[in-house]
Amino acid sequence: MRLTRYFLPVLKETPSEAQIVSHRYMLRAGMIKQSAAGIYSWLPLGFRVLKKIESIVHEEQMRAGHVPMLMPTMQPADLWRESGRYDDYGQEMLRITDRHERDMLFGPTNEEMVTDIFRSYVKSYKDLPLTLYHIQWKFRDEIRPRFGVMRGREFYMKDGYNFDLDRDAALHSYNRHLVSYLRTYERMGLQAIPMRADGGPIGGDYTHEFLVLAETGESEVFYDSAVTDLTFGDREIDYDNVAQCQSILEEFTSKYARTDETHDEALFNEIPEERRRVARGIEVGQIFYFGTKYSEAMGATVQTADGNTVPVEMGSHGIGVSRLLGAIIEASHDDKGIIWPEGVTPFHCGIVNLKQGDEAADAACEALYAALTAAGLEPLYDDRNERAGGKFATMDLIGLPWRITVGPRGLANGVVELTSRRTGESEELSPEAAVQKIVEIYAKHPTPRGF
Ligand code: ATP
Ligand code: MG
Repeated sequence: MRLTRYFLPVLKETPSEAQIVSHRYMLRAGMIKQSAAGIYSWLPLGFRVLKKIESIVHEEQMRAGHVPMLMPTMQPADLWRESGRYDDYGQEMLRITDRHERDMLFGPTNEEMVTDIFRSYVKSYKDLPLTLYHIQWKFRDEIRPRFGVMRGREFYMKDGYNFDLDRDAALHSYNRHLVSYLRTYERMGLQAIPMRADGGPIGGDYTHEFLVLAETGESEVFYDSAVTDLTFGDREIDYDNVAQCQSILEEFTSKYARTDETHDEALFNEIPEERRRVARGIEVGQIFYFGTKYSEAMGATVQTADGNTVPVEMGSHGIGVSRLLGAIIEASHDDKGIIWPEGVTPFHCGIVNLKQGDEAADAACEALYAALTAAGLEPLYDDRNERAGGKFATMDLIGLPWRITVGPRGLANGVVELTSRRTGESEELSPEAAVQKIVEIYAKHPTPRGF
């Protein structure tokens, strides 16, 4: 992409309404524009990152054997009357009446709708196990929308629903989701720690929230610092292997890590004092096993091998796709702007031409652009007729992890400069070597190509 042909409405001033750094940088970098409280337009740069995150979520869900689909944003109230949640959900649910006086709602989640789909088609144990998921806009009329996309009213969420014959199979689905989420967040350059959370009215141990540690997080968390040493890495997973998924769950959840809702001071005090941590975290996902709560209420049953009819066992599992942009920025920035992890960066590399109009500099930039594009990468070429200082400030703000700087003086010696946004370190290389290095870096980060 050439900056002169793009739409990147960068702001110089810090918007006064933004209280936290991710919100400030998303506004300043021209990623989002508020349209009403907690409702945003996704401008091209923000849209690109949103789509990268969405693609990673899709890839990892499909890798785990989960089946993508798409349900509508608008739902009929009658489905929610069947489960009893139409009255229980309260004011967070946006209720709408259509021209025929039918009660509708903008979906805050999809348990009822997916249970209705399931019961319409699936009758036999032979069709199980099944996990259906979608990535769709949700609406929750939050009392205090704030922090930009972190707590929106309209937000983008992956929600998946497992259907299993019995409790053991449903718990394996739960574990499979936990494993797939660990992989998903790590690909985004994030450490999201599974923490034991509140089961709410359903109770039980079977819910974990995934939290990214950040001072601006809304949840108070308590953990053993040893959990932060755990990484998933590039281990091979067989998602059908019950023992393997169970052992990964145990590895990642046996150390103390809880939100304030389930915090137990006595257990916490058993951790050696130097490892006890009290901090704040951003919830970027939650997994839940709830058994037959919806299937019983809505009559979603299956026939077992010996001819009995039983309600199907279920769980639901969410990832806050749009919130993740904010969480990643909270976890990865400095005082100049965003620092995107390679896995989600909107463009792989910036090209800064120090002297637009200089024949050699222009030609070298064009050649770099062509070579990176031919290698399957997406460069952003700042081809504006601007001072170098302004170009650097824009690149630092929008946070591309790598920048190639091209100027007549370097070219006279056959070199360009390759700079890491994270460390600020630069090295002089031939243009070919710079391209080669970027290609090698991204070979380790198979990032979906963008929009
Ligand atoms: P919270 O406690 O933050 O209100 P929740 O527990 O009600 O969230 P879930 O129903 O578990 O949310 O939804 C799954 C994921 O969707 C959450 O983990 C979070 O990342 C994201 N999410 C929930 N509410 C919002 C919101 N208002 N804006 C953006 N993302 C959200
Ligand atoms: Mg939650």
